[in-house]
Amino acid sequence: RPVCVWFRDDLRLADNPALAAANASGASVVAFYVLDEESDGIRRLGGASKWWLHHALASLRDDLQAAGADLLLFRGPARMVLERLRTALEPAAVFWNRRYDAAGVAVDSEVKADLKSAGVRAESFNAALLYEPWTVKTAAGQPMKVFTPFWKAARATGAPPSPLPAPRALPGLEVNRRSLGALALDDLRLLPTRPDWAGGLRATWTPSESGARERLRSFLNEGLRGYGAGRDRPDQDHTSRLSPYLRFGQVSPRQVWHAAEHAAAEGQAPGDDLAKFQAELGWREFSYHLLFHHPDLARRNFQPKFDAFPWRSDSAQARAWSRGLTGYPIVDAGLRQLWATGWMHNRVRMITASFLIKHLLLDWRIGEDWFWDTLVDADPASNAASWQWVAGSGADAAPYFRIFNPILQGERFDPEGAYVRRFVPELARVPAAFVHKPWAARADVLAQAGVTLGETYPAPIVDHEGARSRALEALREITPT
Ligand code: FAD
Repeated sequence: RPVCVWFRDDLRLADNPALAAANASGASVVAFYVLDEESDGIRRLGGASKWWLHHALASLRDDLQAAGADLLLFRGPARMVLERLRTALEPAAVFWNRRYDAAGVAVDSEVKADLKSAGVRAESFNAALLYEPWTVKTAAGQPMKVFTPFWKAARATGAPPSPLPAPRALPGLEVNRRSLGALALDDLRLLPTRPDWAGGLRATWTPSESGARERLRSFLNEGLRGYGAGRDRPDQDHTSRLSPYLRFGQVSPRQVWHAAEHAAAEGQAPGDDLAKFQAELGWREFSYHLLFHHPDLARRNFQPKFDAFPWRSDSAQARAWSRGLTGYPIVDAGLRQLWATGWMHNRVRMITASFLIKHLLLDWRIGEDWFWDTLVDADPASNAASWQWVAGSGADAAPYFRIFNPILQGERFDPEGAYVRRFVPELARVPAAFVHKPWAARADVLAQAGVTLGETYPAPIVDHEGARSRALEALREITPT
């Protein structure tokens, strides 16, 4: 009887405990993936994530085939697919790696119960986190709500285990795909058709396990040293850009953690750069901790007082924001980077999110949805937790009254305007002194740079000072004096 491995957000061969356990069993291995958009509460993937998933599945299939196994693809409610596989293949066991969103956990519990009652061994493993949500607690045994004590308590539980090697050979099993209802990858219809908006994504990313390895290697060689200071500069290339690989599990946090430790030990970067990078991995862990203990994180304000916040409704401004047409260059550059490449630098994510929430006074969930649809790393935990962090409604959030000034942020973190020039080419020739505030330049300076505000580039859709006062006024409505 074969052993089945259910792939989900762990699309890799190396450091994959479910796959390693199946291989160690000595039985033949049947690997499968289910695109489930129907089970209760499951959030459908956004367009950019689907694009990534398509390529991640293609490369996983190739890697599995090279090792001797295959990847079966299905669509539909996971519980039904698993039942079909169980009756057709009569496996001895089904293994998978755990997920932490409420809908996913619920499906997994049902599947586990179904399999057990049919006498099939079902076992799950941790492949996605350094510290699973229930292993880190306050002294009183409660979930954590503040990052610094969370991270301290997590670290105190011990070093993350070393990663497992990829299996060299996998004993596959010939199966009748047709009778199982297995689909071809194209039948999952994950790629955009018309219009094909994915050209920029194709030019930017290699969404495979080997692409992840290469990205990690080049980050450790070129980005880790100086990461602490460089990570805030969107005009530089200091961050790892591993987020989509971590999101889809093409690299594990344990692999990243240990590779970074090793690089620092070899003298490739000082300890404080390493610690800063590891703390960012810690924010990912913290986000999962929050999601697990607060399953509605993407929809409900963590702090209920924000339920009464007087959000505006303004679809024209929401659209201008999403298209990068606000008239604030750093904001527009960020949103255009997102649209063109499926990714945005963290500093600019904070600036653009703050702008939507505080300058435009639009509900953070509008931004969360847009990022969910357009990011290749759209993550159920990090996206929701980060949006709530910026909104001030989250756990351990930035206070609402801290309002990013998009001009000063641009001048500080993109001093020459290189980032703006790259993603907002119509401002490419504006002198550095005005590239973050073109409206402040004299008409002849703008004319020389080929810019006509309101024509070639938008005039600001809100006035910064006015918007700032309006945001603070709105906050007073939910803050008793
Ligand atoms: P690096 O700086 O190289 O960090 C390494 C890894 O640590 C990242 O790949 C990521 O997995 C993790 N990480 C870093 N910063 C954070 C953070 N603040 N919170 C959680 N994890 C972090 N990250 C996502 O992975 N998916 C999202 O959907 C997402 N949405 C965000 C929305 C907003 C409004 C904001 C402000 C941040 C969001 N982030 C999200 C967090 C962060 O911006 C990205 O993880 C980071 O920019 C990814 O780039 P990197 O891989 O080069 O990061």
